[in-house]
Amino acid sequence: MPLNSDQPSGMGLGSSSGSTSLSDSSDRPFELMEVIEISRSEIEHISDMERVVCDRDGALATLDRAPQFDDRPMPTLPRDQSIVITIDGPAGTGKSSVARTLAKALGLDFLDTGAMYRAAAALAIDNGIAPTDIEGVVRETTKADLHFDWSKDPPTILAFGKPIDHRIRSSDVAEIVSPIATIKLLRDHMVRKQRIIAQQHPRLVTEGRDQGSIVFPDAVVKFYLDASPDVRARRRAEQLMASGHCADLGAITAEILDRDRRDSSRADGPLICPKDAICVDTSDLAFDQVVKTLHRHVLAVVGR
Ligand code: C5P
Repeated sequence: MPLNSDQPSGMGLGSSSGSTSLSDSSDRPFELMEVIEISRSEIEHISDMERVVCDRDGALATLDRAPQFDDRPMPTLPRDQSIVITIDGPAGTGKSSVARTLAKALGLDFLDTGAMYRAAAALAIDNGIAPTDIEGVVRETTKADLHFDWSKDPPTILAFGKPIDHRIRSSDVAEIVSPIATIKLLRDHMVRKQRIIAQQHPRLVTEGRDQGSIVFPDAVVKFYLDASPDVRARRRAEQLMASGHCADLGAITAEILDRDRRDSSRADGPLICPKDAICVDTSDLAFDQVVKTLHRHVLAVVGR
């Protein structure tokens, strides 16, 4: 569908650098603040309801006031085919929560691949294996037969058949997980495991750093979430404080930047925005807006 084909005059997608005033059918003025980088070819086959419109306060309600150009019912996902949706991006963009909520909304399974690398890091620490001991890290991780308990919501990660999720968010794990994730043999092992998981759970929203680029290059929809380092650090600090921990904003920002650098510069499976992914800058978006944006996009591409 060509862009702007049946829009009232003066209406159109904005760009991240500018904003456009427009009116909805009730002549209520609101402002278009486009934050999504979608290529023109993407836009051509996205239905009109996909347009992302926020009011000046970024209120979610405005998305519901977004212009609707026909009476077609909201499409739903086909039930009879495998659907893999990837969400990649740096630390602190809210990928996990977004992926989990999106999966739930679409009736798909949710895979947190960061939990697998964190589990490898926790196993190394708890067994006295240095992150530089490549053979030791890979041996221990392989022996642990990492897998998920899919009866839990969200699925919990198991090592040696026992839950290890209580361990993987600790600060000692966060400190070494990026160096551990540079180990090629470990990444090869994880990629194989993730593909097996997708065979067993073929309707999946999976999030990480390399899901769209390396693990699932044929994913039906790929997203890349980003946000400014300041925003990401602030979100992390708020999360920590909400769970009763102290938060040093400066230290969190430094840790995030360090992880970005390591994750983007490694030779194997670096953090990149896959070229066929839709990039969403979440800096100025509320959580619900992000989920809704992705949800609409998926339905526009895959829905019937
Ligand atoms: O997403 P999360 O913060 O839990 O990921 C922890 C770390 O695991 C990342 O900083 C990255 O180094 C590594 N990781 C990875 N590839 C993935 C997922 C996570 O290298 N697919």
